[in-house]
Amino acid sequence: MKPADIEALVRPNIRALCPYSTARDEYSGPLGIFLDANESPYPTGWNRYPDPHQKALKAQVAALKGLPAECIFLGNGSDEAIDLLFRVFCTPGQDNAVAISPSYGMYAVAADINDVQMRSVPLGPDFSLPAEALLDACDGRTRLLFLCSPNNPTGNAFDPEEIAALIRRFPGIVVLDEAYADFSARGSMRARLAEFPNLVILQTFSKAWGLAALRLGMAFADPYIIALLSRVKYPYNINQAAQELVSQALAEPVDGHVATIVAERGRLSAALPAFGCVRRVYPSDANFLLVQVDDADRLYAHLLADGIIVRNRTRVPLCADCLRITVGLPSENDQVLKSFEAYEKGDIHR
Ligand code: PMP
Repeated sequence: MKPADIEALVRPNIRALCPYSTARDEYSGPLGIFLDANESPYPTGWNRYPDPHQKALKAQVAALKGLPAECIFLGNGSDEAIDLLFRVFCTPGQDNAVAISPSYGMYAVAADINDVQMRSVPLGPDFSLPAEALLDACDGRTRLLFLCSPNNPTGNAFDPEEIAALIRRFPGIVVLDEAYADFSARGSMRARLAEFPNLVILQTFSKAWGLAALRLGMAFADPYIIALLSRVKYPYNINQAAQELVSQALAEPVDGHVATIVAERGRLSAALPAFGCVRRVYPSDANFLLVQVDDADRLYAHLLADGIIVRNRTRVPLCADCLRITVGLPSENDQVLKSFEAYEKGDIHR
């Protein structure tokens, strides 16, 4: 896709938007007297507005991800980037989006909020990528295609070559959500970003990095798309505490935690099929397992009574009688296995 084609996908009002600007952008000296933003002059530690461009944090993320800062958008969780993509590319009541199903629920919620029709396309056999059906679901008003790899809640990652072929053929913006890529041997497609001007990759610090409470998500894309997201976002979308605390946390690598979670995922997927109630443990490239059981509602209630909260996905398309179980600490995973054992024995309320 050519840059002119991307520009044609942008909502006319967003193309013409004059974004909010702050006077502080006009000053880059070290010790100014800041009387431009009606802040309190008294230093509580938090009396100044944060950097709306998150320059320091972005430089760190750029080094971590091996991408130029112009290719990076930081959002209040990836959920902010999902919403902004609708606001930038989809005219409410007119344009539509396409997504694999089942997948992460916020794509459809954000579509509804923005009055954009979402066309859900079921995954193929063994949760495979339904490339032809996704393309068949598009028409001249399709602007966004949502893919999630590894996918939530199925756990599988798609072949990068199949994704690449789809990006080349799709006549709009492909949003590839890689929230769980750190747990997958397939890794990320971000090194190939320059090949695809119509690709937006989403990642988050909420999963492998263990920083869900700080709300920091990332979008990687061509600088033209990143500039559009930055124009539409709230000026101070990442608060000062999040900027500082994420910056500190990035100094501590999480490879050890990720390796333990992946090993525990293997341990749980080997142990669970031994239980009579377990019909199938789906292969997972993520930090959770999708487990099909005899009666998901009953097992869910049992686990809950044991103080173990999992996600009951039985009413989600293609996931009848499935529970989605996040991989916890080794001791927590032991508790899960114990609770399954008690369930088998009929020892339901202990
Ligand atoms: N993408 C996927 C696929 C997810 O499963 C989730 C959370 N469950 C998110 C994004 C949300 O990420 P964030 O915390 O960055 O908003």
